[in-house]
Amino acid sequence: MSVVKSIQTGGVWRAAAGGGTREVIDPADATAIAVVAEGDIADTDAAVAAARSAFDTGPWPDTPVAERAALLRRVADALQRDREEIAHTESRDTGKTLEEGRVDVDDVTAAFRYFADLVRNDSGGRVVDAGDPEVHSVVVHEPVGVCAMITPWNYPLLQASWKVAPALAAGNTFVLKPSELTPLSTVHLMKLLQEAGLPEGVGNLVTGAGDPVGARLAEHPDVDLVSFTGGLASGTKVAGAAAPTVKKVALELGGKNPNVVLADACATEAGFDLAVDQALNAAFTHSGQVCSAGARLIVEESVRDRFVTELARRATRIRLGRGTAEGVECGPLVSAQQLAKTEEYVASALADGATLRCGGERPEPSAVRPESGYFYSPTILDHCHRGMRVIREETFGPILTVETFTTEEEAVALANDTEYGLAGAVFSADSARARRIAARMRHGTVWINDFHPYLPQAEWGGFGKSGVGRELGPHGLAEYRETKHVYENLRPSPVRWFSG
Ligand code: NAD
Repeated sequence: MSVVKSIQTGGVWRAAAGGGTREVIDPADATAIAVVAEGDIADTDAAVAAARSAFDTGPWPDTPVAERAALLRRVADALQRDREEIAHTESRDTGKTLEEGRVDVDDVTAAFRYFADLVRNDSGGRVVDAGDPEVHSVVVHEPVGVCAMITPWNYPLLQASWKVAPALAAGNTFVLKPSELTPLSTVHLMKLLQEAGLPEGVGNLVTGAGDPVGARLAEHPDVDLVSFTGGLASGTKVAGAAAPTVKKVALELGGKNPNVVLADACATEAGFDLAVDQALNAAFTHSGQVCSAGARLIVEESVRDRFVTELARRATRIRLGRGTAEGVECGPLVSAQQLAKTEEYVASALADGATLRCGGERPEPSAVRPESGYFYSPTILDHCHRGMRVIREETFGPILTVETFTTEEEAVALANDTEYGLAGAVFSADSARARRIAARMRHGTVWINDFHPYLPQAEWGGFGKSGVGRELGPHGLAEYRETKHVYENLRPSPVRWFSG
């Protein structure tokens, strides 16, 4: 297997300075599909130096907005041209299904187009009324500088693009570090940026481990901003490492997301079917390895038995297998470690008194499910309560827990009973009631009668320990901008504050 030169600095693709390599594993059968460069501190420093030089001396920050937007549009077109290839790469690398991979490419294409339009139509600042006709006062936006971007393995292309597109739109340069588990689609994205004409040094890529590559980026004195998406434990380390240099920090962390189902949502057959279907979608899409997974079902006590029985019946029928295989609905977990973590959470929940309604085991191997793959059956744990680890911590696996309530107050209290605050949903046939509950939910995104959709034009991010800052939407562009006030005195005169 050939080694992919996966480090890009100053427009040149390289092997790691120290010669390190890492195998990229297909989680469906635990075999290596590629060997990439394993960067270290020297590679990271070289990439930051290239980004610094490109920002300080290069043309990108001063490139007219129309040209920057045109480049983003060329990238969007190239993403669509390579859609099948990228979806296939993402599926082999992460285990997700081909269809999910295609959806990711389409979402990312939309994000590139959105930020191209946003920056193109942006006035670039505003005149402010200084209250004095002899003063011209404007507030303008400028790029932050060198941005470090650190991304996770569950949505590699998507998370990278949510950072790269606004950062480039705003005129920054960057160093990107994808997860060491899933670097391949990010390498592809970087090639498309190069093909689209991104000047040398504006975009740089270092493949390698969180520590040292990510840790070095977070602490590096020549990095102006670090945008991190990943787990709470790594995120707090990033924030700590960034603090001494007082760089800007954006964190998109985990979630423990409630899905609140009111009894009135189940009053009709259609409503019941919708709520059950969306509860499955919420919990088991991408085997639950989604930051916004609806892993906590909070259902009204009066409908619990019927709801959970139907949910378990349907969860048992989810077709598990290799993401690229025909008819497969759910892929494996990303790694042996993630599989072991899932098994531990299920064991701890059962020891804590939860009732297993389905799953709780590795599925039988089959033609599309090699024994060596990291598969785990969709699992529903009933009779859960907040004392359990499985309720408080992000499992990031195909585990759905069930809690119940009898009053609206209780539903809201349960939904907010988490240190996270990324996303949640409420299902109800009564729109006023659903909106009332949504308004009280302390989460960055709340869906009513739906789960998972997001829009490039709407901000994404978390309350509480789900993060700091927002991606997407106008705020997603603002993260990559400095704001400067320029005050011009048109008729200057001495102030005589001092008499001497
Ligand atoms: P992770 O924290 O293990 O790793 C994320 C990235 O951080 C990787 O590139 C990793 O190499 C790097 N990293 C690890 N230690 C580091 C350190 N000390 N300094 C700097 N970088 C370091 O997370 P993961 O397991 O790859 O991804 C899953 C997590 O990501 C989940 O918690 C999930 O909720 C979260 N996530 C959040 C969002 C969101 O939008 N809020 C989206 C996707 C995933």
